[in-house]
Amino acid sequence: MKLNINDKFTKELPADPVLENNRRQVEKACFSYVTPKKTAQPEMLHVSPEMLDNLGLSEKDSKTEDFLKVFTGNMVLPNTTPYAMCYGGYQFGNWAGQLGDGRAINLCEVKHDNKKWALQLKGSGETPYSRTADGLAVLRSSIREYLCSEAMFHLGVPTTRALSLALSGDQVLRDVLYNGNPEYEKGAIVCRTAESFLRFGNYQIFAARQDTKSLKTLVDYTIKHHFKGLGEPSKDTYLAFFKKVTQRTLDMIIHWQRVGFVHGVMNTDNMSILGLTIDYGPYGWLEGFDFGWTPNITDRQHKRYRFGNQPNMGLWNLLQLANAIYPLIEDVPALEAILNSYQTTFDKVSFKMMRSKLGLQTEADSDKLLIQDLEDILHLTETDMTIFFRNLSHFQKEKPEEGLKVIHDAFYKPEDITGTVETRWNTWFETYAKRLNEASVSNSERQSKMNTVNPKYVLRNYMAQLAIDAADDGDYSLIDELFQLLKQPYAEQPEHEKWFAKRPEWARNKVGCSMLSCSS
Ligand code: AMP
Ligand code: MG
Repeated sequence: MKLNINDKFTKELPADPVLENNRRQVEKACFSYVTPKKTAQPEMLHVSPEMLDNLGLSEKDSKTEDFLKVFTGNMVLPNTTPYAMCYGGYQFGNWAGQLGDGRAINLCEVKHDNKKWALQLKGSGETPYSRTADGLAVLRSSIREYLCSEAMFHLGVPTTRALSLALSGDQVLRDVLYNGNPEYEKGAIVCRTAESFLRFGNYQIFAARQDTKSLKTLVDYTIKHHFKGLGEPSKDTYLAFFKKVTQRTLDMIIHWQRVGFVHGVMNTDNMSILGLTIDYGPYGWLEGFDFGWTPNITDRQHKRYRFGNQPNMGLWNLLQLANAIYPLIEDVPALEAILNSYQTTFDKVSFKMMRSKLGLQTEADSDKLLIQDLEDILHLTETDMTIFFRNLSHFQKEKPEEGLKVIHDAFYKPEDITGTVETRWNTWFETYAKRLNEASVSNSERQSKMNTVNPKYVLRNYMAQLAIDAADDGDYSLIDELFQLLKQPYAEQPEHEKWFAKRPEWARNKVGCSMLSCSS
């Protein structure tokens, strides 16, 4: 196995001088050196061929003993120095102080085909940032992260990726519902990858400690390696940097809204500086289209991170980042202008995205109302988002009266589509047909456009749970089946039609399907 190691983070940024692996506050440093924990009986369950390719590795490499050892933390690659990053964060609106990689250990950075990849093990043991926890991860949450991050990539959503999923062979104690019933579960390790795992929290921790020197070092490093072309360190460059981060964050959240992804824990320690979807925890996929939905039971009361609030939370998090880098800029109006542009740009881009979901390539004055009306009607009865938008592509502009038939499969209770609900749908279809007739785009042309933005297959919450239940019983075949399926989320894949279906009733209130906790 030959990787082109290209470590920059540890070479150019200040390290924690303490080498002991005890829990502590780490100041004036971006990371601490730490060695992954050896595991009882590692077993590789799945490897992403696309990620192997990205790293310049072959399938043959992935079958070697070294690959298994390295990506389960049982062997450190020569000339590399694994480390955990120091960061802080606002959790559910409150400053939580130092958090850091409590169970993630960065192995090294790799350069291949002119692309940079940081490789990181999740669930590989304690670090100085583990606080009160064990540094480990269980199989269920690891399957969820592994499958979803690769699926998001294929959906075209900016995301961290995953190279491998392995069992550690160790048992891990978890209290899934935080109700005093801990149980042993299988331990697992995912090797995830990204150009960088830097988060908003990496900058905030220095700001909170009034350590402007380290803050500047980290921002300069970030611009030099990940935001090339912005210029030499200066106030203007820092503003350009913040603008880019704002744009990328906005772009990521628009994609989430497009595919119906709810992150679940948009704390600032889970916001990537590169605008990548990061930290797949109690995330979920919309079934019924519902702006008020959150999968995270920890957030059930306030629903801070509900589907419809993700755009606002993105902005709130950016405001916190602006506060953190303020000492390097000291210009409130300039930062505020960028934050304000988030709001206006968001409305514009979101509108365009929604139009594309309806197959409207051009813009008409009436489109805002058409979309607003649709969103209102979608909330009247439980209507499956994925099926609705995908089947809407079959709508024929000459036959508005058949609209309800076209989207029939999206209704969880079709028998409820009567009276005013039925009338509102029919009126909407008439308006939609009229609009489409004005646009003079053929039905088939519209359909093929719509099918590039409305996925047919997403990792529905219950699908991941089925793969988890089977894996708990030692059957890993469903992991591969879903992995293959989700590589082509926009293709018809008739052989996989069974996954183009509403959530089954057994999954409605099942833990792991509609209710997830941060326990992982
Ligand atoms: P999360 O809510 O998963 O983003 O985690 C918030 C913080 O808790 C991060 O600093 C994690 O590294 C840390 N953390 C979560 N689970 C564990 C664990 N099992 N052991 C150590 N640290 C953890
Ligand atoms: Mg996190």
